[in-house]
Amino acid sequence: MRFPMTLTRRMTGYIMRNKMAGTGKFPLVLMLEPLHACNLTCTGCGRIREYKPTINEMLTVEQCLGAAEECGAPVVSICGGEPLIYPEIGRLTEELLDRKKHIYLCTNGMFIRKRLHEFKPNESFFFNVHLDGMEKTHDMCVERDGVFREAVEGIKAAKAAGFLVSSNTTIYKETDLEEIAELYDFLTGLGVDGFMLSPAYSYSAVQTTDMFMSREEIQEKFRLACALLEKYNLMVSPLYLEYLRGERDLMCTAWGNPTYNPRGWKGPCYLMTDSHSASYKEFLEKTPWENYGYGRDPRCQDCMVHVGYEPSAVLGGNPRLGDSWKLLKWQMVRGTRKPLRSASLHPSNGGGNGKGNGHGAGPAAGATGGTGEKADRSVLPILQ
Ligand code: SF4
Repeated sequence: MRFPMTLTRRMTGYIMRNKMAGTGKFPLVLMLEPLHACNLTCTGCGRIREYKPTINEMLTVEQCLGAAEECGAPVVSICGGEPLIYPEIGRLTEELLDRKKHIYLCTNGMFIRKRLHEFKPNESFFFNVHLDGMEKTHDMCVERDGVFREAVEGIKAAKAAGFLVSSNTTIYKETDLEEIAELYDFLTGLGVDGFMLSPAYSYSAVQTTDMFMSREEIQEKFRLACALLEKYNLMVSPLYLEYLRGERDLMCTAWGNPTYNPRGWKGPCYLMTDSHSASYKEFLEKTPWENYGYGRDPRCQDCMVHVGYEPSAVLGGNPRLGDSWKLLKWQMVRGTRKPLRSASLHPSNGGGNGKGNGHGAGPAAGATGGTGEKADRSVLPILQ
């Protein structure tokens, strides 16, 4: 199995119930941002700029739970900001698991070892660690030496304690895909359970635009990425990968992955902000969805990100004969790649000076500085 059986069962039942009830728009993944503060200042992160005035605000656990219940999505991606500097992350996770949510905790990995004792292994809970390359590349992307090494130590600790761990990687114009294959080999050796990847997108809040790709460049990059990486346990829908390779059309269904943060329900999507709504109902009803997506809004021109398009094969139109079988087969079969080497640190491209024991700033201290999100939090593992 590519995913835990409970996730497959719950997601399937949820989609069937909503389709049979004739629900027009319903969410699959809640992108929950309890805070926007972060201990890093990654290149390509939009949150540091967009939410600078409210960077120190946080949602309460009760607000987070209220949002999860209000929208009803079976999967919650806890992101931000860095969720492992959220003071009550352990309680929030436990309460969401009690409510039968499947959780991806999207982290830069710097505080996994510090806070691991606040979590219990659960087949509905993944640490989802952001890694954009091997040591030198990743540390350059996050603008700090030692981050790769500490994230790897966090992964090792989490695996040793029995947790599920996935990684997520943003593919930029300059990304060396051979290096990503090397990263996946290395992580497979550490016991990492699956891999997410998504194209970067030059949304307006990010000032460094030369690292982002046009639609045609994304398609070319992902044709190569699929050829190199499909043997690994990719946790990316095959229908979304077809879209990324330019083999099928999909319309944006950003309402399928709504974002909730200290300012409210962010519309229209995780990337662009035209409004914040006080309730999910208001977000759904007042957002002019017909104005967004490729060909409708110039800002959407080169966007192919998972939050807009990964749910689309299920929630939008354009189904093809054989889609259901393709998805079922994909869910039931893991990637074939076996570990090539032992789970030791193997920074093949050198660089970095990390000591492998985390930053001096503890969780609370980290909350005062830094930036917000990454563009690669693909957490929509099953779609049928
Ligand atoms: S295409 Fe959809 S997900 Fe992408 S920027 Fe536009 S509204 Fe957001």
